[in-house]
Amino acid sequence: MLSAGSDDAPRYGVLGWPVGHSRSPAMMRAAGLARYQRLPVAPEAFDDTVRALPGAGFAGANVTIPHKQAALALATTSSAAAREIGAANTLSFSADGEIAAENTDAPGLIAALGDAPRRSALVLGAGGSARAAVWALTRAGADVSIWNRTPERAAGLGARVVRAPVAADILINCTSVGLDRTSSPFKDLPLEADGLATYTTVVDLVYKAGGTVLIQEAAKRGSATVDGLEILVCQGALSFTLWTGLAAPLDVMRTAARDADSQR
Ligand code: NAP
Repeated sequence: MLSAGSDDAPRYGVLGWPVGHSRSPAMMRAAGLARYQRLPVAPEAFDDTVRALPGAGFAGANVTIPHKQAALALATTSSAAAREIGAANTLSFSADGEIAAENTDAPGLIAALGDAPRRSALVLGAGGSARAAVWALTRAGADVSIWNRTPERAAGLGARVVRAPVAADILINCTSVGLDRTSSPFKDLPLEADGLATYTTVVDLVYKAGGTVLIQEAAKRGSATVDGLEILVCQGALSFTLWTGLAAPLDVMRTAARDADSQR
C-alpha cells in the first residue's frame, strides 16, 4: 500500500513545457503516487530545477516535451536503452545524489501492442517519439520503414527511409498531426482513409478528448487500434514500477487517464 499523501511521502512529477495538458498526474495519483504533480519548467531552467528536486523531497520525475534529451544529458547514470534512443522520460533520484535516466516510452509501446503482429512497421515522423518507436520495433524484430515530412531528419534513425507509404503490419503515427484542428492525417501525412485497412494495427501516439481521426477511421475499416492514451498508460506503468518496485494497477491508471479532464 502506498502512502496516502502525508507530508513525508515521496514526491513525483512530470517535467514539461508546457505540461498543463498532461494526464500523468491524474493517472499516477490514481495508481497511488499521491504527491505526483505537474512541473512546468522552461528549457533554460531545466538543469537547475531537476538538481533541486531531490532536496525538495522528490524521488522521481517523468519527462516530456521538450526535455527528454536534456534529461538524459543531465543524468549521472543512464540505461543502455535511454542512451541508444538518445532520450529519457523517467528520472529516479537516490539519496546519494545519483540521478538515473531511463526510457520507458520504448518498452511502453511494445507493451501497448500486446500480441499484435509486428513483422513490419511503418513509422511516421522523425522526432523524439519516432526515435523511440524505431528503436523499440527494431529490437522487437520488426522490419521498420520511416516516413517524415522532412526526409533528411529520418536518415540515421536506423530504419529504411521511404517517400511514400508502404504496406506493413503496423502503422504508427509519431508526428503531432491530429493534435489540433489545423492538421489532418489525410492532408499532412501520406495516408488515405481507405488505405488504412492495409495495416493490421494502427497506432497513434497523439491523444485528445474524443479520440483522433486516424484511430476513428482505422477502426471503421477493421484495423486493430492502439491509441495514445494506452501508450501513455503503458509507459507510466513502467515508470511506476521502476520507482516503487510494485506491479502497476493498469486498469486503475487506464480509467484515470481516460477520465482525466486534460485541462484540470
Ligand atoms: P517532435 O520531436 O516535436 O516531432 C514532431 C514530428 O511531427 C516531426 O517528425 C515533424 O516533422 C512532424 N510534424 C509536425 N507537424 C507536422 C505536419 N503538419 N505535417 C507533417 N509532419 C508534421 O515530437 P515527439 O516528441 O516525437 O511527439 C510527437 C507526438 O507524439 C506529439 O503530439 C506528442 O504529444 C505525442 N506523444 C505521445 C506520447 C504518448 O504517451 N501517447 C508520448 C510521446 C509523444 P518534421 O521533422 O518535418 O518537422
